[in-house]
Amino acid sequence: MAPVPFILNRPHPDRVEWSCSAAGCTAAAVTGPASTKVPWHPCPGTGGAVVPLIRAGERARVVLTPREDYVAGELVQRAPDGRVLGAAQVQRWDGSNDVIVFAPTATAAAAEVKELAHDG
Ligand SMILES: [Zn+2]
Repeated sequence: MAPVPFILNRPHPDRVEWSCSAAGCTAAAVTGPASTKVPWHPCPGTGGAVVPLIRAGERARVVLTPREDYVAGELVQRAPDGRVLGAAQVQRWDGSNDVIVFAPTATAAAAEVKELAHDG
């Protein structure tokens, strides 16, 4: 009897497939193994917020957390519907998670910064 080649049905090691966990969104991407960046996309399933994709086949979901602090003029991340976002969490069924915080950015006029530099 001639030997029969044994073929494993595994994902190709040179590519990583990603998909979105939100209902109503079909976004997907493929990256190479050397990429350490998670692909993000403006997600119609979350009202247009920019959220990360999840490795295809992984049991996980993306949850958006609203910002609970007062917005006092700093630049914040907003969903297209106006909600102020505090974070996006990738929650996996094994209990692990990733949290991406949308940190607010303070602003100042150039004259204010120059004045502070001279005071210090
Ligand atoms: Zn999506």
